[in-house]
Amino acid sequence: MIILILILLGLCLGSFVNAFVYRLYEQDKHSYGLDIKSKKNTTGQSKVKGKVNLSIINGRSICINCKHQLSALDLVPLFSWLSLGGKCRYCKKAISWQYPLVELATAALFVFSYVYWPVGIVGVEQVVLFAFWLVYLVGFMALIIFDLRWLLLPNKIVYSLLAVFGLQMLYQALSGELSLRGLLSIIIGSLTISGLFWLLFQLSSGKWIGGGDVKLAILLGALAGGVVEAFLLLFIASFLGSMIGGGVLLLSKKFNLKKQLPFGPYLIAATVIVVLFGGSMIDWYKNLFIL
Ligand SMILES: [Zn+2]
Repeated sequence: MIILILILLGLCLGSFVNAFVYRLYEQDKHSYGLDIKSKKNTTGQSKVKGKVNLSIINGRSICINCKHQLSALDLVPLFSWLSLGGKCRYCKKAISWQYPLVELATAALFVFSYVYWPVGIVGVEQVVLFAFWLVYLVGFMALIIFDLRWLLLPNKIVYSLLAVFGLQMLYQALSGELSLRGLLSIIIGSLTISGLFWLLFQLSSGKWIGGGDVKLAILLGALAGGVVEAFLLLFIASFLGSMIGGGVLLLSKKFNLKKQLPFGPYLIAATVIVVLFGGSMIDWYKNLFIL
């Protein structure tokens, strides 16, 4: 039952992420390229061009091709896309598979997190903490789309998530769940990754790593929750980045060392892995040396 609710919630919030990303991008696209990831990426820019001349009508959802306002029926996640064969009801133009994919991925992440949550989700505190995690996941989905499509990690999303994390800290402190040691551990975890990224950012003047990654790292390191977890996160992210990123580069046959690749998705994927499995991975590693 809970899993069914999480699936439906994930599909709906995934649908929200799609609409939200599109609107935020339309709203703020003129201000991008200045502060977030300093380097402009030409392939990213040209990709976007075809979709730039669109406006949002009073915040209502529209088909991005024919700009027909969507009815409530069209907004039903996944099923509307499936029933229409991935085409707009009005102009029959194919709708990007990004939409159902994001909906499905969000739902899958929700269920996956529930199944592999490291402690039992019993009691008000754990339910609230899990709810906080779902909020981060929704934000992560938006960040992943932004980074993949435009090499951007918008401040608005990153800062909002940091504010949510502040609320979580406040909640944990008030409910007596947060020890001074726990807080210190979170701060050190956060500083480990963001500090390292900041250093890389400064040393390379934004070539090796984007400014958005540095800001995001503040949150991800805090979520990892400790220095060991932070290094584990970095290790997993680099591993995923070199495997998948390298594979993509080779496949695309456009091997070009100057091409900037998004690092955000790997960092986020690594964070999910560390939050869900970090404890058992670290225990397993420690046991290797004790035995
Ligand atoms: Zn249409």
